[in-house]
Amino acid sequence: MYKRFREEMVHKLVVEAGITDPAVIDAMLEVPRHQFVDPPLQRQAYSGKALPIGYGQTISHPTTVAVMSSVLQIKPGDKILEIGTGSGYQAAVLAAMGAQVVSVERVRELAQKARQRLETLGYFRVAVIIGDGSLGYPARAPYDGIIVTAASPNIPEALLGQLKEGGRLVIPVGSLEQQNLKIVMKKNGKYLEHILENFKFVPLRGRKGWQL
Ligand code: SAM
Repeated sequence: MYKRFREEMVHKLVVEAGITDPAVIDAMLEVPRHQFVDPPLQRQAYSGKALPIGYGQTISHPTTVAVMSSVLQIKPGDKILEIGTGSGYQAAVLAAMGAQVVSVERVRELAQKARQRLETLGYFRVAVIIGDGSLGYPARAPYDGIIVTAASPNIPEALLGQLKEGGRLVIPVGSLEQQNLKIVMKKNGKYLEHILENFKFVPLRGRKGWQL
């Protein structure tokens, strides 16, 4: 049943959101999104919604996951830093695309649950770290890509410094109510930016995020 729900979700992503990246499509067909939410919500996992995962946090909308995964232009073996592990779903999608993922989460309980879940499902290429990701994760830098799945008031300087030459950063930037997705590419030591409008994420907290 869940496999059919998953196929319908991905079909909608292609038809309604115009997602065409085959690596993203294959990964989202593979990763069992329902296993990343608690049992009472599993039937809604493919309904095209952000769903609660506890501690006031959410698993992102599938379209958001697809768009962010696509703009990173991942090649197998790329080392990707994710800020905001949450349920672990986005990290699993990136791993299914062939990335080595380092994922940082500030809520200890969410990090532990995601780590356990990813292990059980066999996503061994994801390392979950507990900490303040607004500072990035210098111990494993530099990264081919950095994805921030929580809304920031601006682009934390530390993240730009942890990008490889040719690497990409995707981050929602704006107010607490609404953000634009900023895509930054490091080329010849310079940062080129473009923007996708109108997204809504939970806040990035921490030293270089929102002090709430
Ligand atoms: N990527 C997640 C998934 O697939 O389920 C969804 C992430 S949720 C929208 C945003 C997450 O960012 C929350 O789990 C929140 O606790 C986390 N977060 C917020 N500020 C953070 C910070 N400074 N460092 C690490 N994680 C942070």
